[in-house]
Amino acid sequence: MTVAHEAETIVARAVESRDPNTGEVWRRFAAADALAVHDAVRRARTASHTWRVLPLPGRLAIIDAFRALLFESRDEMARTIARENGKPQVEAMAAEVLTTLDLARFYVRTAPRVLRERVRAASALALLRKRIRLAHEPYGVVGVISPWNYPLMLPAGIVLAALAAGNAVVLKPSELTPSTAELLIALLHRAGVPADVCALVQGDGATGAALTAADVDKVFFTGSVATGRRVAIACAERLVPCVLELGGSDPAIVLEDAPIAHTVRGLVWGRYANCGQTCVAPKRVFVVDRVHDEVVARMSEAVRALRMDADDAREVGALIRPSQRAALDRQLADAVSRGARVVATASARDDAFAPTLLVDVPDEALVLREETFGPLLPIIRVRDEDEAVARANASEFGLSASVWTRDAERGRRVAARLEAGTVVINDAVVVAGMADVPHGGVKASGTGRSHGEEGLLECVRTKAIVEDRLPTRTQPWWFGYGGARAQNMDAFARLAHGRSWGERLGGLAGTLRLLRER
Ligand code: NDP
Repeated sequence: MTVAHEAETIVARAVESRDPNTGEVWRRFAAADALAVHDAVRRARTASHTWRVLPLPGRLAIIDAFRALLFESRDEMARTIARENGKPQVEAMAAEVLTTLDLARFYVRTAPRVLRERVRAASALALLRKRIRLAHEPYGVVGVISPWNYPLMLPAGIVLAALAAGNAVVLKPSELTPSTAELLIALLHRAGVPADVCALVQGDGATGAALTAADVDKVFFTGSVATGRRVAIACAERLVPCVLELGGSDPAIVLEDAPIAHTVRGLVWGRYANCGQTCVAPKRVFVVDRVHDEVVARMSEAVRALRMDADDAREVGALIRPSQRAALDRQLADAVSRGARVVATASARDDAFAPTLLVDVPDEALVLREETFGPLLPIIRVRDEDEAVARANASEFGLSASVWTRDAERGRRVAARLEAGTVVINDAVVVAGMADVPHGGVKASGTGRSHGEEGLLECVRTKAIVEDRLPTRTQPWWFGYGGARAQNMDAFARLAHGRSWGERLGGLAGTLRLLRER
């Protein structure tokens, strides 16, 4: 399909910034159509040629300037996130602004080491003359598509790494959080990133689809499994790589030696912060029989005490949009119809979905099979560690996981058995916000990594340049076969790989004859 034709099929419309806690629409943006997306990518491509040759210290100085500007604007940024996403301002500051400041500093400090050229000798005996240079080259133009639940930290973590590595970026944020993305990009431009090197295309799913179909060299997508699959197919059509950070149904394993009070506080925060809309939130809690009843009783108490009132002490805000509630109602009704019991709910405002705790949930229940994206948490009783691990792994997802125990050795052992991209011991959620921890999933939770050194390396291609240290000397495997060449080549094979020193030395004379050939 031509760009012009594709543009005709997309209905241009506005995207809105709406306060989930009040329903007020406070800003509107025009959605970019396919033509505008292709134009942004074309301009980014032209601009990328200048950006990639700017020496790394120059690019990193700009990222450091962005960090300083974000620090100065931290209050405005946190207020924008809270107003647009609905999370309490404390969470906007801690999980988004602080984390983004950390990520910027991490890239500035580590990029010179991670992205530097490496020089290696060849390991094969026949190739000792070769010197290998490994250079990290930017892809060119990368497309970044991000969701609404962490509207600053998620796109920033990828955009900053991509820019540091020398790429131009076109960002398509969620249609539900356009103002946060606008502020992020404005700060980057003020810091010195040229406008076309980091472009913003506002819009909905059609805008995102247009970006995956445009002339980008790699796509970094964060969002649901269903959309991620569509993005992967679009990238496969164009044979460009993609990083997919997708949904999860993270297990938490509470062992009998867990520090119970700490565990309860951590799990309740991890599940209900951001109104339960966190990819790496604990979404299935497996508690061993010996401490199950105590954990349930204490978690019930903690859930009932959650604050949803509209003041500074609010702990749980509103769901991003009312329609999100339908999926939670369906999952809750399904669990109850299969025999699950609601043991605690918080007192919710108006018609908000109240934070809910479930027990006696059978394996077939949707809350254990699908991702639950809201404040609904099932606790599952298990006999022991082995059953906990087996049931934790019995999921199509594999994003993150947590283990709660006083025994560090045991925690590491259980972590090693879990099918997940990251595992945290005695904490929840934090891994996704740690600048030096590579974040990403296994199984349906995605491929590739963001953050950490691995996240930086996702933004570059490795190019190998191989030099010969004896440039005028012929190679023994070049033409000129016949004579004793075959025997001499066999002698060399014996010298290189013979099973004993005797066999290897037996190949020495033939190898010297091979090397003397011209
Ligand atoms: P979606 O998959 O609905 O959307 C993600 C992004 O993709 C949005 O910008 C969306 O635009 C865009 N999009 C929609 N359709 C297409 C398309 N056909 N082609 C390209 N882009 C498209 O996810 P949500 O925004 O609802 O986010 C929640 C999900 O994200 C959850 O499953 C959560 O677990 C996951 N997630 C994963 C994380 C991880 O690191 N693994 C981190 C955070 C969230 P628009 O919003 O405008 O429709």
